[in-house]
Amino acid sequence: MPNNSYAISAIKKIIKADGNIVEEYTISALFTDSRRISNPAEGLFFALSGRRNGHEFVAEAYAGGVRNFVVEHGPEFNLPGANFLIVPDPLAALQALAAYHRNRFKLQVIGITGSNGKTIVKEWLYQLLSADKNIVRNPKSYNSQIGVPLSVWQINDRNDLGIFEAGISTVNEMNRLEAIIKPEIGVLTHMGPAHDEGFESPRQKLLEKLGLFKNSRLLIHNYDQLIGYEKDIAAKETFTWSRKFREADLYVFSETVISKNYYFRARYQAKEIECLVPFTDQASVENAITCWATMLALGYSAVEADKRIERLAPVSMRLELKNGVNNCSVIDDSYNSDLQSLEIALNFLSQQNQHQKKTLILSDIYQSGLQQDVLYKQVADLIRTKKIDKFIGVGEALLSHQSYFDVAEQHFYADTTTLLQQLKALNFKDETILIKGSRSFEFEQISRALSQKAHETVMEINLNSLLNNLNFYKSKLKPGVKVMAMVKAFSYGSGTFEVANMLQYNKVDYLAVAYIDEGVALRQAGIILPIKVLNPEASAFDKLTEYKLEPVIYSFGLLDDFVGYASAQGIAGYPVHLKIDTGMHRLGFENYEIETLCDMLEANRYVRVQSVFSHLAASEAPEHDEFTKKQIKRFEKAFKEIERTLGYKVIKHICNTAGIIRWPSAHYDMVRLGIGLYGIDSSVPASEAGLQPIASLKTSVAQVKKIGAGDTISYGRSGSLLKDGKIATIRIGYADGYLRAFGKGVGKMLVKGALVPTVGNITMDMCMLDVSGLDVREGDEVIIFDEHQRIEELAKQIGTIPYEILTNISQRVKRVYFYE
Ligand SMILES: *Cc1c(COP(=O)(O)O)cnc(C)c1O
Repeated sequence: MPNNSYAISAIKKIIKADGNIVEEYTISALFTDSRRISNPAEGLFFALSGRRNGHEFVAEAYAGGVRNFVVEHGPEFNLPGANFLIVPDPLAALQALAAYHRNRFKLQVIGITGSNGKTIVKEWLYQLLSADKNIVRNPKSYNSQIGVPLSVWQINDRNDLGIFEAGISTVNEMNRLEAIIKPEIGVLTHMGPAHDEGFESPRQKLLEKLGLFKNSRLLIHNYDQLIGYEKDIAAKETFTWSRKFREADLYVFSETVISKNYYFRARYQAKEIECLVPFTDQASVENAITCWATMLALGYSAVEADKRIERLAPVSMRLELKNGVNNCSVIDDSYNSDLQSLEIALNFLSQQNQHQKKTLILSDIYQSGLQQDVLYKQVADLIRTKKIDKFIGVGEALLSHQSYFDVAEQHFYADTTTLLQQLKALNFKDETILIKGSRSFEFEQISRALSQKAHETVMEINLNSLLNNLNFYKSKLKPGVKVMAMVKAFSYGSGTFEVANMLQYNKVDYLAVAYIDEGVALRQAGIILPIKVLNPEASAFDKLTEYKLEPVIYSFGLLDDFVGYASAQGIAGYPVHLKIDTGMHRLGFENYEIETLCDMLEANRYVRVQSVFSHLAASEAPEHDEFTKKQIKRFEKAFKEIERTLGYKVIKHICNTAGIIRWPSAHYDMVRLGIGLYGIDSSVPASEAGLQPIASLKTSVAQVKKIGAGDTISYGRSGSLLKDGKIATIRIGYADGYLRAFGKGVGKMLVKGALVPTVGNITMDMCMLDVSGLDVREGDEVIIFDEHQRIEELAKQIGTIPYEILTNISQRVKRVYFYE
């Protein structure tokens, strides 16, 4: 049996489970997410309770072919031929199984923790050490209570080194991860404020993190960070580095920036040594020193360490989703390739509904620790379960294993150059293309050839942050309360199907758009969630019904129009939503109209009322709380009357984003989540730290000019500098959505880490920044907003609200999506 296969009966013993084995199975894959299942016949599904109870997904996993389950309670599942292992805590069982597996192997293990840099340090150590070791490591940043056991489960007997990172957000979590990783060598990366809210103090957090190393022989750390903690270090040996203290084993005493590199000199074992790091930003530099210290601590010579560090490559754990040529979507994951990250990327591919056709361009996979025939069989299986329509394999190994693959359309090439020559002939059109390659294949060339040129101003959208924000609000809801996600106005400027795919995959209940066109676009991109249209135009009712969009009915006129249309078309029982005006005074039935409305609805067979809702005018504002309470009262009165007339239950909802936080008693059956999804909500106290901005807007410098004190800048000679200085002309203007109101010093942007003001009027496609005293060059990046320079701040600068800033970013600005 391969060494990460276990008989299900053996697993039952290992995790001390109850329940009967009805049939023996061999288990090689562990799942916790019913949407991410491959090789189901050898899979074991752990029903974890979290925001959604994993037990709800047992049937789905069963339908997907899984026959083995670890559950908290068993008998109610009546699924023939399936084994149910019953345990008090399925997560603990998953961890126990991983710990058992870990203990069977004698490989050396490095454990990494810290607040920042864990994943980078792990990936860099992998780059630095893989020349002499067969390494197993966490895929991406799988470092949680679930991610760590799944990572450790991959260990096989060809591995001679494991590099595992562990992340925690509160007390007592590290103990559990320590038992699974059991690191002989520990690496502590940068400690910062991340997750402070989960701990009583930074000290408590640090002590928890040190728990990972309680059985380690050697700990590698920044000397400065553990001053005062000497007694808390359990490791017998330490290897320290410092840029301040001579006592450190590696004392860095000189640092110089040489073009795009950082050059260090340090004292080590009473000798002077040097190292060139191919990065200059502070985070990378610190992570590189940590790696340098680790190599020395592992016994590499200073010369060898320098030689390898000089060749470090940037780490990007993120997939990038962007527009491609010929109406394709391109998912770019050309940084690395291994089985686990291939599976993650394929899952992301299968979330995409915008094109029917799904294509994979894949290079040979290196360093899998598997025999080639085993590896490519697994790859072929994975591709089969993910239903790929077109497969392009690049590399000698794929070429020689092509008989394993049976994709409807498949092509194999020996190398990237040959593929590039054939690219035109492959006729990419209306498909979603995943580009996944090992670094040495330089697939970025393919990505460049297949992507639309992004003009230099781009809005980057972080889909993980979007998901984080969705889960944040879900955690504020009582079980059973539904979520309607507001995706009107291109999801507040953030995208169309890209955002909707994510929401659909993560099971929101409803989407809402402003106009019928917006709903049609989502349907054409394959979105099947119910979609409510806030402002349906009678002239497009045909489209509305053709695409199964659900109209909001807010007036008698509209009700008449729709009923007229429905009866003419022979439509009955069509789902509609009734909007009640309880004080916003925009759209909706007034309270005095409810009686007439009820009369009209009674015995009306053309429509079926799906929901009744109203909108709060000032849910975020404490000074209007009395008014809000009045709105809620009026709403209750209205929906009670309507439900009584209809004789059936409808979905009732009134809360927008701020209402979710501030009016929990008014959640009713559903909430309408808008701006909070995009990371903005003034009613979330900063201490909660639950929301993440999802968008960053970036552009670049087109030209830098010296300006004399008397010179004027821009139209109307509207700007000048007080003394001789320098301006940068950058590629964004009011046509991109950077409003004229930001001109003449009102707006500020980040250039090289410094906040600099605009000078003169904003023009249509460009504007100018005062960069006097900064080393700024053509092509340098300029940040208009991101997680540091926040949209809220920009809104304040020009006296508006974040909604307006976001939705103003014009469609000319390319959106690029990131997901890890
Ligand atoms: C836009 C909108 C929302 C969402 O409001 P946020 O403040 O962005 O959460 C909710 N309900 C209706 C009717 C809306 O038009």
